[in-house]
Amino acid sequence: GPRVGILALQGDFREHARVLSQLGARVDLVRRPAELAAVDGLVIPGGESSVMDKLARMFGLAEPLREAIAGGLPVYGTCAGLIMLADTVLDGIAGQQSLGGLDVAVRRNAFGSQNQSFETDIDVPVLGEPPVHAVFIRGPVVESVGESATALARLEDGRVVAVEQGNLLGTSFHPEITGEHRFHSYFLDKVTATLAA
Ligand code: GLN
Repeated sequence: GPRVGILALQGDFREHARVLSQLGARVDLVRRPAELAAVDGLVIPGGESSVMDKLARMFGLAEPLREAIAGGLPVYGTCAGLIMLADTVLDGIAGQQSLGGLDVAVRRNAFGSQNQSFETDIDVPVLGEPPVHAVFIRGPVVESVGESATALARLEDGRVVAVEQGNLLGTSFHPEITGEHRFHSYFLDKVTATLAA
């Protein structure tokens, strides 16, 4: 199977590793530029984006990651990972940077204190039936979707919680912790298609 890296600086990278292995991918944890250079696709996990940003810069990974994204590497970000992929981050901590790539603005911790963490079923047309059971844990909302990006899923109130742009995929929620494998499968299809191209 394809070789998929998981950015393992911080966050729930083990859960992604489990899902991707179950789907037949070769999984490598990525903490150094050389490890990044060896993979065919990358997952950026949930966690805390401000910490992930600092660690990525400290480990000399931020620029290689930006170059890889610009070069077409397939990347899937969940929650904090989506924040890392967003061109614009609202309500970041002072000095927080993202890697960018997705033409969207996301707002961190966008669900009020009553609703910081919740679960709901959402329709994701590209994944078909049944709806996706989505777990949100202090997740971001995609506040605006630019011309280059596409919304893949919305909450009932219309707020966007999954987006795609070419080889980039992002969700505000965490399919890696619910036994939902279709987003990872959809992502692996991008990795395979890129390898074949
Ligand atoms: N609130 C976190 C952040 O801003 C994201 C939470 C998550 O990944 N579950 O990065």
